[in-house]
Amino acid sequence: MIAEKIYCKPNTVEEAINLAMNHADDFRYLAGGTDVIINKFQGNSDTNCLIDITGIETLKSVTVEGNMLRIGALVKLDDLKKYKFIIGNFPTLVVAAHAVASPMLRKTATIGGNVLCENRCIFYNQSEWWREAVGYCLKCDGDICIATGGKKACFSKFVSDTAPVLICCDAKLEVIDRNGIQHLPLESIYTGDGIKPRNLDKMALVTRLLLPMDNDYKVVFKKLRPRQSVDYSSLTTAVSINKNGRIKMALGGVDPKPVVAESQAANAREELIAYALKKSRVIDNDVYSRPYRREMIKVYLNRSFDELNIK
Ligand SMILES: Cc1cc2nc3c(=O)[nH]c(=O)nc-3n(C[C@H](O)[C@H](O)[C@H](O)COP(=O)(O)OP(=O)(O)OC[C@H]3O[C@@H](n4cnc5c(N)ncnc54)[C@H](O)[C@@H]3O)c2cc1C
Ligand code: SF4
Repeated sequence: MIAEKIYCKPNTVEEAINLAMNHADDFRYLAGGTDVIINKFQGNSDTNCLIDITGIETLKSVTVEGNMLRIGALVKLDDLKKYKFIIGNFPTLVVAAHAVASPMLRKTATIGGNVLCENRCIFYNQSEWWREAVGYCLKCDGDICIATGGKKACFSKFVSDTAPVLICCDAKLEVIDRNGIQHLPLESIYTGDGIKPRNLDKMALVTRLLLPMDNDYKVVFKKLRPRQSVDYSSLTTAVSINKNGRIKMALGGVDPKPVVAESQAANAREELIAYALKKSRVIDNDVYSRPYRREMIKVYLNRSFDELNIK
């Protein structure tokens, strides 16, 4: 029997949550769709119900409340640069957003969708027949990890480019789910399990990203990829220093979750690089080799620390 395909387009958050509860076993929120639809086409997602949230106008604004910048989850990546509070206080967020995908995709892709985009692996992001030919892996109904030659865990890469910068600026995610509204530190939603990379409630709708505006962050962002457009990250690094001298680093592309650490030490460089290398579970599931990406972690972090005058 062919399963019924359902598409709905709520106009309010409440409507969206109700629809999600009605289709709890088999739905996905659809924002820009640049991740959801590709995964559907490739057979990596067999969801039958799509809840298109792009009609919810309240999720499209950028506002300031007290010292908090509130960026609606549906703000398009390409539009971030249009807001003076973003470009003035968080210019590196605009740089990171500009490193995502390609110009056309950024006009559709949203910031909420970006921090929630699916983990990737060259053995998983392939067509159905390709995956069938190699025997499938843990992330798609197989029973081993192909990239590691048989491990029983999935190390698909966390690839959001904006998330490392947002984490370095202490962003919180405003989420509405069955338990009401919650404000969660962005880094806390990532599990480190490549099969189920986030721990949000299934109904959870991300409504906003909240950024404190009184910390005077200086942030350096770098991204390793074969081409300067379209390609996903093979390594993303963000390093920040705030007005109190607290250093925070977040890495993407080298582990199933962002690798995050902070330090107040005057000579934090060696300690943070050692931590990044220890915690990044880099495997050979990318166009670049594992040793090269590990080497580039050192190169990018050293360059970032130099640019921020961190010893
Ligand atoms: C060719 C190509 C290249 C790409 N390159 C990059 C890249 O370099 N860097 C990068 O980071 N990404 C890249 N992407 C992935 C994707 O385009 C971006 O991550 C984009 O920002 C996703 O946003 P979206 O609005 O399209 O998300 P969608 O595809 O609509 O959604 C992504 C996920 O988030 C969920 N979701 C979306 N919004 C909400 C919400 N408000 N509340 C709850 N759940 C929600 C969806 O259910 C889905 O699971 C690329 C995609 C393509 C096709
Ligand atoms: S890391 Fe292993 S289990 Fe995960 S998607 Fe890649 S091959 Fe599959």
